[in-house]
Amino acid sequence: MPIRATVWGENVHEQKNKFVAENYPKGMHGQIAALLSEDKNIVASTVTLQDVEHGLTEKKLDETDVLLWWGHAAHKDVEDAIVERVVERVWQGMGLIVLHSGHHSKVFKRLMGTPANLHWREAGERERIWVVNPGHPIAKGLPPYFELETEEMYGEPFSVPEPLETVFVSWFQGGEVFRSGLTYRRGAGNIFYFRPGHETYPTYHDKMVGQVLRNSVNWAFNAERHAHLMKAPNTPVEKAIEPIVERGAKLTHHPKS
Ligand code: ZN
Repeated sequence: MPIRATVWGENVHEQKNKFVAENYPKGMHGQIAALLSEDKNIVASTVTLQDVEHGLTEKKLDETDVLLWWGHAAHKDVEDAIVERVVERVWQGMGLIVLHSGHHSKVFKRLMGTPANLHWREAGERERIWVVNPGHPIAKGLPPYFELETEEMYGEPFSVPEPLETVFVSWFQGGEVFRSGLTYRRGAGNIFYFRPGHETYPTYHDKMVGQVLRNSVNWAFNAERHAHLMKAPNTPVEKAIEPIVERGAKLTHHPKS
């Protein structure tokens, strides 16, 4: 069965900025889904902030193996209950790919537990993306580095926890560097943060970027869901693996049946 990827798009700047609308007539989410669909192992669909429950109903998440998240202008408009729902899905094993300014999304910050701040400049600089982990599945088929002629600069320090793996490091024309491809695991869920993707530039029309996105969906996929991770049950004395005798003071009281 193919991997079911859901692309979540904020869909705000596409409606308000003519450069963004020209770059992405189908919406950024539509173009990202088109890139994913080049892989026969992926079935991609899209939802947006404006949909009921931001498109992230329980049913839609039941049908999602990997969720991709692009947001920028409206992070605060994402309802906390939906954020919590997505986070719990990740903990249970759903894959999550966070793109570009999604670093400041409620979902990503909640999963990182840090401000996820960085410094930035919107000056159409060349970005050189170095593959620093060539054996990693997300780097499959890529050259030692690739370039995006115009991108927004994101500079270190990027206040996220130390990643599980660093796949890409970016250099910018103005001299800054940035860890632009990072993996995490939270609960049973695989998470990948990928930096490029500023909306006024045609980044999601780049062949290499498409390759990274398809690779990352394949990497993040996990068919298993671990609902038990959402519970914290008590194992009573009589159910202990080895026989034990209860002793000492305790907080809990179980009436004798
Ligand atoms: Zn940006």
